[in-house]
Amino acid sequence: MTAATLLDRLEAVRQNGPARWRARCPAHDGKNRDVLSITEAGDGTVLLKCFAGCTALEIVGAVGLELHDLFPRVEWQTTGNHMPLPKRPRTDWPALILACERDLILVKIVLTMVSNGEPISTEDAAACQAAATRVYRLVQEQRDIDAAGVRAERRHRETGTR
Ligand SMILES: [Zn+2]
Repeated sequence: MTAATLLDRLEAVRQNGPARWRARCPAHDGKNRDVLSITEAGDGTVLLKCFAGCTALEIVGAVGLELHDLFPRVEWQTTGNHMPLPKRPRTDWPALILACERDLILVKIVLTMVSNGEPISTEDAAACQAAATRVYRLVQEQRDIDAAGVRAERRHRETGTR
């Protein structure tokens, strides 16, 4: 998402930079409440820091969002089930690597929460599962494409020498 979705739900928001805001932390009470820092990274990931120590999970939970809402939606191009033989499809590596990185960050955050004994929602667990599946499929897909390429090459060599 963009930070706007979150900012709409926060109070006492003031901008203090191109993609930086301060706001009242919805996750804790007391005097020092305007200590929530929100930064939108270049890829749309929203970074949260409460100087009173609230976790990102507590903060998004307090305004009815989920942890995965802090990450931009990754749209995966589906190429259908046709095997791209023997031509290799062009792979947008920078986009794929960025998508993998986001997925791994999500998994890492959730794992950290689990190891800290924090509860995770079923949505976050599902997002984590989906992230792991995407990375796994990506690796498998590339292996299949490589294997298909090798087979096609071998066929070509065999028929060529005959
Ligand atoms: Zn807080």
